[in-house]
Amino acid sequence: MTINQEDDVKNDQQLHKEKMQKQKERVDAQIAKNSIERGVAILMTGNGKGKTSSAFGMVFRALGYGQKVGIVQFIKGAQESGEVNFINDHCPNADIFQMGTGFTWNTQDKAADIHASEETWKVAAKMLADASYDLVVLDELTYMIGYKYLDRSMIIDAISQRPIEQSVVVTGRGGGRELREVMDTVSDVKNIKHGYKAGIKARRGVDC
Ligand code: ATP
Ligand code: MG
Repeated sequence: MTINQEDDVKNDQQLHKEKMQKQKERVDAQIAKNSIERGVAILMTGNGKGKTSSAFGMVFRALGYGQKVGIVQFIKGAQESGEVNFINDHCPNADIFQMGTGFTWNTQDKAADIHASEETWKVAAKMLADASYDLVVLDELTYMIGYKYLDRSMIIDAISQRPIEQSVVVTGRGGGRELREVMDTVSDVKNIKHGYKAGIKARRGVDC
């Protein structure tokens, strides 16, 4: 290495250090500024893959701290899924309830779907009113709003009036502006591409 090249490496290291120091100052300042201690309401929406699996990532985080978790799956339940198998077999701190009707294009029965969604909502509403749950997941709830099976303001009220320490994760495409407004964190999972479109079958352990 020539002396010039050594100087370049030193400069590069110095610049990197300065940049990282500034970033650390910004991050530390934000952490110091944040003082609110309460549960968080999270919406995982968008057309890409990763909404439900992200919600279950948070389930396992919470369980890792011995917290109590409630999971309500709207739509799902007709099909087997690895996360539900695991929770049923290994997670006594997690209560799971599934609507179990499958997708609306499978049931093709609006009255039965509405009845099932109302019964499922009763379970969700009970969890949202129970401070012993640290985390409540309402998987695919947005479709119940989209199809008008459940009343939007009833859902929004229950989420905003939940116990202060309780976090809630809602998943599903759409859901509307009012729901987004009541949530603290909203992530829009964008679809770049999906293996399904290339003909790859849904895979156990990855998709279900
Ligand atoms: P995951 O459960 O894998 O996190 P998700 O909750 O984001 O996915 P859903 O809309 O609930 O997605 O779809 C459920 C199923 O459809 C999953 O098997 C998922 O892999 C698949 N899927 C998700 N996004 C797409 C997409 N853009 N095109 C086709 N299939 C998708
Ligand atoms: Mg999903």
